[in-house]
Amino acid sequence: MLMEFLPGIWQSDLISGIPDVFHAFSDRRVGDMRRSDMRSSFADACGISPDAFVLHEQVHGTAVYPVGSGPAPTAGYDASVYRYQQTGANGKTGHLPVLTVSAADCIPLLLVDPAARIIAAAHSGWRGTLSRIASRTVNEMEKLGADVSRIYAVLGPHIGVCCYNVTSRRARAFEKAFAGVAGVVENRGGRDFVRMQAAVTATLQQAGVPESNMEVSQMCTSCNAEYFYSYRRDRTASYGKMFGIITIRT
Ligand SMILES: [Zn+2]
Repeated sequence: MLMEFLPGIWQSDLISGIPDVFHAFSDRRVGDMRRSDMRSSFADACGISPDAFVLHEQVHGTAVYPVGSGPAPTAGYDASVYRYQQTGANGKTGHLPVLTVSAADCIPLLLVDPAARIIAAAHSGWRGTLSRIASRTVNEMEKLGADVSRIYAVLGPHIGVCCYNVTSRRARAFEKAFAGVAGVVENRGGRDFVRMQAAVTATLQQAGVPESNMEVSQMCTSCNAEYFYSYRRDRTASYGKMFGIITIRT
């Protein structure tokens, strides 16, 4: 379950107890994470430095960036992985990177292999979900030494099947990509709705992540206007972005 541990900040009780791993999801009460002042207050509330956030513009692609492997690009990837080293990614101690994923309806996905001290964050919108960014991220974690049977995965707040009405073309694409997976597409009153969490958890399971290591938020960003930004619901007015973050603390 996702629990609100501070006003506007949520954690999964599946991984919140794992030593040295810190993760959180912000909601709209913490503000728009595209704004640096609001990112700073979120960081303060979590007891981390806003300078530690690995920030990047997401492009609905499938590239996974290994943090610490060189100067961080500011765009062009939708997932990042990091293996804890004695010195931080920037070569200094005490300044470990905090991986981020921003979303407002898309699935913010956080992953960790606690024993190998490997973390990941991924942005799984409809394009990323169809092209299985979740398993691509797991594969990158494995390249760094993760054991898939130890990986925990948390799917943060996102648009639910209650609200995620899609075109017939997109619904058929999901049916084709996830043939045999129950509940990915639902037809109600002649309209198609996609349950993205079913597609992402199936992808993770096919990659070898144990089902018992997965946590799925059931809060719909579109239904809960009090708590969440929703691109679908608010794009004609104003909307913001919410963060999922994960880091290793020593
Ligand atoms: Zn809904």
